[in-house]
Amino acid sequence: MISKILIISTNREFAPQPVAPIGAAWVAESLTQAGFRVRLVDLSFEKDPAGRVASEIRQFQPDGVGLSVRNVDNGDFLSPRSFLPALKEITDCVKQNTSARIVLGGSGVSVMPLQILNYLELDYAIMGEGEETSVLFFRAKTDDEACRAPGVVCRKQAEPGYERTSWLSNPDLVRPRLHRWVDVRRYLRFEPVLPVQGKRGCANRCIYCTYNRIEGRVYRLREPALVAEEISSTVMNTSARTFEFVDSIFNQPEGYMEALLEEIIRWRLKVRFHVASISPKGLTKEQVKLMERAGVTAVGITPEAASDTTLGSLRKGFGQDDVYHAADLLAGSNIKALWCFLLGGPEEDKRSIAETMKFINTKIPDKDKAFITIGVRVYPHTGMHDLAVRESVVDPYDNLLMPTFYFTPNMSPNEARDTLVSGLGSIGKTIFLSDTNFSSLGILRLAGTALRLPSPFWRYAGYMNMMISGNRVIRRNWG
Ligand code: SF4
Repeated sequence: MISKILIISTNREFAPQPVAPIGAAWVAESLTQAGFRVRLVDLSFEKDPAGRVASEIRQFQPDGVGLSVRNVDNGDFLSPRSFLPALKEITDCVKQNTSARIVLGGSGVSVMPLQILNYLELDYAIMGEGEETSVLFFRAKTDDEACRAPGVVCRKQAEPGYERTSWLSNPDLVRPRLHRWVDVRRYLRFEPVLPVQGKRGCANRCIYCTYNRIEGRVYRLREPALVAEEISSTVMNTSARTFEFVDSIFNQPEGYMEALLEEIIRWRLKVRFHVASISPKGLTKEQVKLMERAGVTAVGITPEAASDTTLGSLRKGFGQDDVYHAADLLAGSNIKALWCFLLGGPEEDKRSIAETMKFINTKIPDKDKAFITIGVRVYPHTGMHDLAVRESVVDPYDNLLMPTFYFTPNMSPNEARDTLVSGLGSIGKTIFLSDTNFSSLGILRLAGTALRLPSPFWRYAGYMNMMISGNRVIRRNWG
């Protein structure tokens, strides 16, 4: 019978910032509630991750091991880097040191569980949300029974179409209590902000997105009072005073954001909030005012383009007018906005890039920034994959395990770069994904926290751009 479980959070990526493993904490809490003895090891800051894993296994002697995988690569077309070889060193180390039942989970695994299991030579993965499935998996008396738990993908029994996903029916069954499982002080040193999640799921169907395999298309909403209580408890137990909502799209579905923020206002929490992602679609003046009233000081907004052509091809579900309307609303507020764009997708051409550049030049005020990703990572089971195969950009037999990208056939990457250079009024207010690999960024973050500079730290991107000016990706060859 399995009684002791070691959860290993394997993410070690620091670009653009270290991310506290809220999903692994959620699963660890769930397993504890179910009666298991659980230890969580966070490898984020470990200099010798395999050594730490071996030592934890020696000390704790687990009968079950769960490894969480956030991403399989950095998603960067211009400087691609797979995380899988480093992950294999860790999973090989686990296999060498224990005969415990091992399972993989996390967002990276949910996207392509079988490919990853084959690469790592492991047998089990959880697809989707792990809180309930992990309990059933580790409670199972035999490996065969473990395989039958909903959401478990078993490599030895796998056939095409075998993968199945599990969703947590009620996200309030378990509270993550991140500070109980993770040394949050280490994350707070890089930026004094902790994650919080109000809901699961996203009903949109953007062509490139894998979210439907990670959290599903059906929204499951947390009770606002429980979210407020979680924030209050974190404030009492840590030095965090700023929280970031990491929900898929914060202002969807209709009405939830309002209910959540009104509840937070009632709690008089004396904290500030960032929001990882809002959509321009349906954004209203009242919503922006409510966000301000509740203490939201920064949002990421994810139109990905400001051209109807590109928005249509990315299946964003809104148009250029919505993007301009949202810009007017946010420009008239005190909320800082990070505008996210994805260039090089289907049907992108010089004209559509010029439209997006015009938007950046004219509608993004000095208080805000534009975050630009070049090229689209192609994942299995997405509309992007189907299109990439149809256009012969991707071989139909490519398992997509290693970084694979789509870039519009309408122009070469270098032509896109030249269009950007000539179209952008100022590259000072843009942040390119590839520039966030800059090795001194971590030191700048630590300095920013030590000096108690107000977050979000992306607001200081202009300084970073000055420091790396000659090395910025915009000055390099894109091929
Ligand atoms: S809105 Fe965001 S999370 Fe939802 S499908 Fe589109 S990209 Fe994915």
